Amino acid sequence: MAERTAGEIILRGISASPGICIGKAYLVDKEGVDVIEKYSITRGKLQAEVKRFKAAVKKARDDIRGIIEHSPEEFQHTHILETHLALLKDKMFYGKTIDTIEKEGINAEWALKKVVSALKSIFRDMTDAYLKERSEDIVHVSDCIMRNLVGAESENIAAIDKRVILVAHDLSPADTSQINLERIMGFITDRGGKASHTGIIAQALEIPAVLGVGNATAKIANDDLIIVDGSAGKVIIHPGDQALIDYEEKKERYERHKAVITRESHLKAKTEDGIHLEVMGNIELPEEVFAVINYGGDGIGLYRTEFQYLNRAQFPDEQELFEKYKDVVEVLAPKPVTIRTLDLNGDKAMANTANWGEPNPALGLRAIRYCLKKPEVFKTQLRAILRAAVHGNVRILFPMIAAYFEIIEAKRLLDEAAESLEKEGLPFKRDIDVGVMVEVPSLAVITDLVAPEVDFFSIGTNDLVQYTLAIDRANRQVAHLFQPLDPAILRLIKHVADVGRETDTPVYMCGEMAARPLHIPLLLGVGIRELSMNPQSIPAAKRLIRSINVGETRTFMDKIFKLKTARGAYELLRDTYGDLLAELAQY
Ligand code: PEP
Ligand code: MG
Repeated sequence: MAERTAGEIILRGISASPGICIGKAYLVDKEGVDVIEKYSITRGKLQAEVKRFKAAVKKARDDIRGIIEHSPEEFQHTHILETHLALLKDKMFYGKTIDTIEKEGINAEWALKKVVSALKSIFRDMTDAYLKERSEDIVHVSDCIMRNLVGAESENIAAIDKRVILVAHDLSPADTSQINLERIMGFITDRGGKASHTGIIAQALEIPAVLGVGNATAKIANDDLIIVDGSAGKVIIHPGDQALIDYEEKKERYERHKAVITRESHLKAKTEDGIHLEVMGNIELPEEVFAVINYGGDGIGLYRTEFQYLNRAQFPDEQELFEKYKDVVEVLAPKPVTIRTLDLNGDKAMANTANWGEPNPALGLRAIRYCLKKPEVFKTQLRAILRAAVHGNVRILFPMIAAYFEIIEAKRLLDEAAESLEKEGLPFKRDIDVGVMVEVPSLAVITDLVAPEVDFFSIGTNDLVQYTLAIDRANRQVAHLFQPLDPAILRLIKHVADVGRETDTPVYMCGEMAARPLHIPLLLGVGIRELSMNPQSIPAAKRLIRSINVGETRTFMDKIFKLKTARGAYELLRDTYGDLLAELAQY
């Protein structure tokens, strides 16, 4: 790539949706919601103030409904907007704002601002990046109401009539859903992150997006020529001639490559020497099942079920869970859907019972620990899963198992759930595969003891790295030390894979490590035969697998386990598979 030319400004953000676009900037102006004043409302006028708030919510609801109705059928992310509709009426949001207006005798704008700040801080304190991002949904919904309250006009993105790249402080999923693909080439925002719904929609629309740039709206002016490299999370303002030539080429290469990979993604992932791997998708929301299908996933290797428990005052009941699971299971049948039971952190769960707050939630009452302590919450979910299992191919996966007794206890509760369904005469299926996440080092070490109790292991490297190397996965200060290729991690993975082979227990991987092509030869070499990843990564993973010869990884495997550092392992992988990876890197 050429040297930077004078006048070029480079901004960096989060790569939220891959691809490259080159064009003129269009600044989306969303005024009116930043400066909010507080004033008192006299007792006699409080009900009128509440009414004003309700009218603003109703308008927001009508607007969002209108967007859903006008969304093209193939646009499968309207569920995100449905979530926003539900949020509008959520007690902890809607009810609390009304309460605040009435109790404190203040204006609706200020009451809403206060409630939203409190909710935002609950979400932001969560350790899980995905859930952290959900605070953005609350912000988007409240912005929508706030604009109605203050009477600010919102920019009509659907009406933009030239080919441009959007530049905004923030774009809500509702804004993004109105993007006309013939006009909008890509977008950049100051706020937002990879797991934000805006990013998810950009991926679904397959347009490049760089989010969380921080200062894009300050640095970019209307009509500035810009390059957006969504794959690298990079924006170039006033690109020089050389950058334009380079990026035109890169764009063409990317598009050619993507077309080939996507065409092939529905074929099986078989190595050169005939070993077949299942490449599955990870999902958080039921509707993401379509992304898994579109990207050629062989099933769902990890369905994170936490999301349905958050954003609300009361946990979902069995029927609601059953229906959500059933939808996913039915759509994918006969392909497998691995439903992971609740992985709430201590703080997330307790947010609903008002005594939340743990000093060290990652080591606290998280996931299975919480479920074993709250058997009634756990059994509601287990019953819903067993009922959904009738409709397709379900596997159940227990998170954060650290000790043998936890799997025994979890299975006992699963049996109890089945017995209660039997007694009530409800249709269910108990004969499903039961597996555990290997994400706490203690479990990795005792997989031989646990193997007779489970049908499969699924290695969760996000937490395995966190707990083995003592690196908080959400802490930027130590992000550089978060190394899946660390010798300790590689040895744990190999140990689990070896035990799997000896005990005839399949070993899968669903952590982010599986999504990086660089790691795949190694994972194949140790004997992992099923990978699960974010749906967008499936086509490239499948393509790489097709060009690997597992037999040939042997000599390389002998070397890698003797290396002392993650860097050494990285270099060995790069030197051995560099050519294959270079081809994929363009994707
Ligand atoms: C993991 O820990 O690797 C994993 C897949 O689960 P989560 O990211 O949901 O903790
Ligand atoms: Mg985990």
